[in-house]
Amino acid sequence: MIARASSVVASLPGLKGNHSLCAWLNMKHPQTIKRSARGFGALFSLPLCALRRGTGVFRSITCTASSLDIELVPCLKDNYAYLLHDSQTGTVGVVDPSESVPIIDALSQKKQNLMYIFNTHHHYDHTGGNIELKARYGAKVIGFGKDKERIPGIDITLYDGDRWMFADHEVIVIETPGHTRGHISYYFPASRAIFTGDTLFSLSCGKLFEGSPEEMLSSLKKLMALPDDTSVYCGHEYTLGNAKFALSIEPGNESLQAYAAQVVDLRNKGLPTIPTSLEMEKLCNPFLRTSSAEIREKLNVPDSASDAEILGIIRKAKDNCDIKSTNSGLFESVDVMILIDEIKEVVGRSGHINQAETSKS
Ligand SMILES: [Zn+2]
Repeated sequence: MIARASSVVASLPGLKGNHSLCAWLNMKHPQTIKRSARGFGALFSLPLCALRRGTGVFRSITCTASSLDIELVPCLKDNYAYLLHDSQTGTVGVVDPSESVPIIDALSQKKQNLMYIFNTHHHYDHTGGNIELKARYGAKVIGFGKDKERIPGIDITLYDGDRWMFADHEVIVIETPGHTRGHISYYFPASRAIFTGDTLFSLSCGKLFEGSPEEMLSSLKKLMALPDDTSVYCGHEYTLGNAKFALSIEPGNESLQAYAAQVVDLRNKGLPTIPTSLEMEKLCNPFLRTSSAEIREKLNVPDSASDAEILGIIRKAKDNCDIKSTNSGLFESVDVMILIDEIKEVVGRSGHINQAETSKS
């Protein structure tokens, strides 16, 4: 079986489908799904709600490219933290631990010791576990030097363009303001992986709490300049709600229809939609598609509007949509089912839903 992201990529118009190194394997496990994808990829285990309720299936992908394993750990209501493990040296880090207990549990299972805590920005749902994890493991907290006053327990300050080594893995710091003024993303070029926090989500971007549309656009452009096969590890499982919004303003986007169908299929099974890829996001994410004629028409944007202006308009429309929505993040199955039904109604007419449900082979 081909991994979720690979099968979507392979089936979309204009894509090469060169991600087929990965394969799903089914195994049993009481509470977690685990997936391993070195290179793009990831080794991740996640106790999603459906699995907590007794439908546990344990799956893994295996890809070969680098010695960095990335394990996805659900936290709070809809956050993801990511455990990083260098299999050559045993070095372990975590990205954006919003709480400590799920991280401690994951580390305990593997008898690993935490050495580094990476924070993309200061929000509590990305740093809430810092102090307890630091006290327990003696881990060093890494964050943006310009925002050091707001990063709990910060030890190592990094700045835009800095190159830092996690074991033998180069980490490049990319300043990506817009959501907050002190937001950074961590890029692991050898593994083709980037941790984008709340700057870039699958099918959306972060809310503009402390930045302008111009700043967010500039940040997104920096990310879009990375290789298309870069895996994107963002801070939240928001993809289903984001798909609903994206379809509402670009319903004719066939790549988006296919991806939304795949997202529905994954969430139906209690599986994560992360990581996504930059290639997929360029095809489907409305915030990366400000030149789309359909989006501009749907939102009544004049031809003269700049990319930053349209990004701001899309963001306001999305904010309004989020306010009306019961929820957009969702590990809660009731909300997931509502969104799945709504998206099926839109995408089902295109036939992609049926394709997604029958293409698992
Ligand atoms: Zn945030």
